[in-house]
Parts: sequence; C-alpha cells; structure tokens
Amino acid sequence: MNILDELNQVSILQVAEDLGLDVKRQRMICPFHEDDTPSLVLYPHTNSFYCFGCAKTGNAISLYSEIKKMDIKSTIQEMAVEYIPGFQQSKKFAKKKLPTSNLFDVAAIRRIQEREKPTEEIHSQIYEAFRNFCLQQQSNELSQSALAYLKQRGFTDKTIKDFNLFVIKDYTEVTWYLKQHFSTLDLQESGLYNQQNNLIFYAHSLIIPYYREGRIVYLQGRVIGKPSEGTNRYCFLNNQPLTLFNVDALKKTKTDETVYVTEGAFDCMRLVQEGKTAVSLGTANIFKKEWAKLFKRVNVVFYLDNDKAGHKAAEELEKIFTHFNISSTRKNLPENYKDVNDYYTGKLGSNEQLGMF
Ligand SMILES: [Zn+2]
Repeated sequence: MNILDELNQVSILQVAEDLGLDVKRQRMICPFHEDDTPSLVLYPHTNSFYCFGCAKTGNAISLYSEIKKMDIKSTIQEMAVEYIPGFQQSKKFAKKKLPTSNLFDVAAIRRIQEREKPTEEIHSQIYEAFRNFCLQQQSNELSQSALAYLKQRGFTDKTIKDFNLFVIKDYTEVTWYLKQHFSTLDLQESGLYNQQNNLIFYAHSLIIPYYREGRIVYLQGRVIGKPSEGTNRYCFLNNQPLTLFNVDALKKTKTDETVYVTEGAFDCMRLVQEGKTAVSLGTANIFKKEWAKLFKRVNVVFYLDNDKAGHKAAEELEKIFTHFNISSTRKNLPENYKDVNDYYTGKLGSNEQLGMF
C-alpha cells in the first residue's frame, strides 16, 4: 500500500476534528464560502465532503490542504507523519536517499492537484472564452450603441482596444456556447452563471474585463447608457472576490511615481488615456488591506467620485494607507463634475472616428 492509499483510510471525520473544525452530526459551517448554516457535509463512507452552498467537494487530503493552505505534496508529507504509524521513523532512516517517486504515487498526486488546484485557471479560461466568443459575434445595433455610448463618454478607439472592452451582441448565442464548452459547476463557480444557470450579464451587455498578469481574472458588466428603473448600472460576478482594475500597471511604475486610484473602471481608463497611471477599486466601499502593499513604492492620489460616498471612501482609504505607511493625497473634482471621466469629457469632448465593435 502506498502512502496515498494509507492516507485515504484515515477518516475524514478524524481529520476534520484534528483540524479544529466544528463538526456536528457530520455537518459543519463551510469554510469555503460565507455560510451561516452548516452546509458542508462529511461522508465517512466515501471519505469525502460536499458543500450544498458552494458545491465545493473533495476528500480528507484536499480538506487538510485547503484548511492549512498547503500544497498537496507538503500536505501528504505532514499527514503521513501525523497519521501513518512509523512514517516519521522510516523517513529519518532514509533521509536523503528515498526518491519521492517511490514515496508518492505521482500520478495520484497529480490527479488530486488537477481536481483541486486550478480553479483560478479554469475561471480565466471561461472568462477568456466568453470574451473571444463575443468578439467574433456579428456587429449589431447593441454593439453600435455601446460604441456610441463609449465615444460620447470620450473614449478613443485605442483606449477601448487597450482595455479589451467587449459587448454581448447575442445573449442566447453566447449562453449556449459556454454551456457547450464548460461544466455547469465551473460556470457557476466562476460567477458568470447564477444558480438558475443563466449568464448573469443580461441587462449589462458592455463587459469590462479585469486583467492580472495578462489573464482575465474578473468581469464587470455595464448597462449601455442609462439604466432603466430597478436595474443597477453595474453587475459584478457572483461570489467572486473583487480585484483591482488595471493592477498590472502598478508593476511598471517607477519609485515615487504618481498613481491615481479611482472608483470606477471608466475613470481609470480615462486617466490612462490622458497619459497618467491609474488603477480602480471597482467600487468605493471595498478596499482589501492586502492591496495596500502593492502601492508601497508610489505616490497615491485618490481621485474618487464627487459625492458623499466618494468623499467618505477617500477619508477611509487615507486612514488605511497612513496605517500602512504609504503616502497618499486626495484630489478633488471641481464642483460641477460627478466623476473623473465626466470632468475630462466636459473639458475635452471627443470626435474621433471609431470603427470597431
Ligand atoms: Zn461552501
């Protein structure tokens, strides 16, 4: 019996208990989503778990690795020491000689890794397939009005292209296409499909992709023009953590360079169009403390919306940044302008020819 087989004999109930998880009648509060009732069920007969809230599934080893935030290989090492009698001893005896290929069933480890690890990768694949399909859809009235809208807001052809904005030209078609190529579970987990298995961007046909290291890691939909009553202007992915928009720009900055932090992605795009360096928070009321370190080397200028929420957010953000010892200042818009983009559009306007979408 190899180590993996032996570990698979260890009861998942035991492992959960050892991990300090609060299991009652084989159920527990799910640690993988915001759960207020115990949605995660442990199945001792198959030594596996399943969450009825977020559909997360796995076995004792993946549970251990997720909770301890360790990769599969170190998990197996640590679990072997903990659960396999005599493992520590044999390891000590054969300290350097024992090749890992003998110690572990490499193919089995890879199987676990493939099942557990690359959810981010799968999500990026889904987002990119979504974008690519939309881009090759026939241009139509919807895409024309999206283009007209962007143009009216002062964006140039180059900006629209550089930020890879795209439009869902035919909702039914792209819904069908993605369902053909990805599992329901992956589509829902990616946040692009809801529990009813529908693509979430129904009213929000203009899509703003968020990139990190060249991959799409997040999507935001926008209504084209003014939203109708009862509809929000923006639509964000279901249950996906918000990330910074244009975050890759921070990597290219020089020390002490000025970086503008805006609320909306459009404001960020507009500042970039004006030759500045900018990132956007997506929304004024979320800032993750782990983002602060990304701004260590630069001079941060908050350039938020000219409303109550914007002013309040700027105050909060300044506090957070001061706490992390990062220099930041605030730039206020002149009284009549609501946000950065309006300000520039009001000032400059735009009448370039645009021939995309
Ligand atoms: Zn869950």
